[in-house]
Amino acid sequence: MVVVLEKNVGDKQLENVIKHLEDFGFSVHKSTGIEQIVLGAIGVKPDFDTRKVKILDGVAEVYRITEPFKLASRSFQKTNTEIKIGDVIIGGNEVIMIAGPCSVENESQVMTIAEVVAKAGAKILRGGAFKPRTSPYSFQGLGEEGLHLLRKAADKYNLLVITEVMESNQIDLINDYTDIFQIGARNMQNFPLLRDLGKTTKPIMLKRGLSATVEDLLMSAEYILSNGNKQVMLCERGIRTFETSTRNTFDLSAIPVIHKKSHLPVIADPSHATGLRDKVIPMARAAVAAGADGLMVEVHNDPEKALSDGPQALLPEQFVDLMKQVKAIAQVISRTM
Ligand code: PEP
Ligand code: MN
Repeated sequence: MVVVLEKNVGDKQLENVIKHLEDFGFSVHKSTGIEQIVLGAIGVKPDFDTRKVKILDGVAEVYRITEPFKLASRSFQKTNTEIKIGDVIIGGNEVIMIAGPCSVENESQVMTIAEVVAKAGAKILRGGAFKPRTSPYSFQGLGEEGLHLLRKAADKYNLLVITEVMESNQIDLINDYTDIFQIGARNMQNFPLLRDLGKTTKPIMLKRGLSATVEDLLMSAEYILSNGNKQVMLCERGIRTFETSTRNTFDLSAIPVIHKKSHLPVIADPSHATGLRDKVIPMARAAVAAGADGLMVEVHNDPEKALSDGPQALLPEQFVDLMKQVKAIAQVISRTM
């Protein structure tokens, strides 16, 4: 940690700051510049609250040098985490496509969509059976029946399954049907849920919260990792900003930012990030170009009648087109898809 003192700091204030730092357990190194004194405080603990120093008299700025997350960090593990499920590897050279409806609605819907996405090259079938809806009056999902249909469709077309778990008491049930647990944006900081999923053995996709920083996202990943489950992938799905022309603002630069800070795979979700069908293909192309290890895209055979997120669902023929385009982009950056 680096502590920059105010320009006119007095001897008493300086002594007091050094004493506090030592009491907090730091060893302190003083550098006197022409205008300002800078203290290097060595030995910061991951949970140290830097505000304890920021509020001391005579302190101008405090900078943390080491990251507050450990297991998720690139400095802890240099090589990329690869998550292997059957013959699918997430976080390797191949860019993985996850596709399917927003919600599982009925058998013919999920079967039709699974066939389309499997034939076009998707490896993982998505679909919500328990839906986190903004309105309590909106469709809340089919529950176990939805899980059953999703598994059936995935098995028929040789796909893996990802589905959202909203609360801890659903973990055992969903574990029987899914290959990957999805933690939704709204639950990114549901710490009891993160802890409980950290004790499971299946891979987890953690979606970035609507107003979460990259550091917040990595701290949430740390909850899962520190409870034992190391198979975590992160998902950029757009954040809330002042811009209203898209549903959320797709934070594309989060992809290379996370790759530098962390060894965990990064999936991009251009469907929830933009909320509009005609913006999904361009942003999917951009995400692959930016280095995403996978894409998650919503597809529907009859989006006008979809029970959730119809306006952002790609039509089957658009999904086929998207696959062709992102495969070509992947090739340019020496990746397969
Ligand atoms: C979803 O992927 O189905 C979903 C609800 O997304 P998010 O949690 O990102 O809003
Ligand atoms: Mn959706």
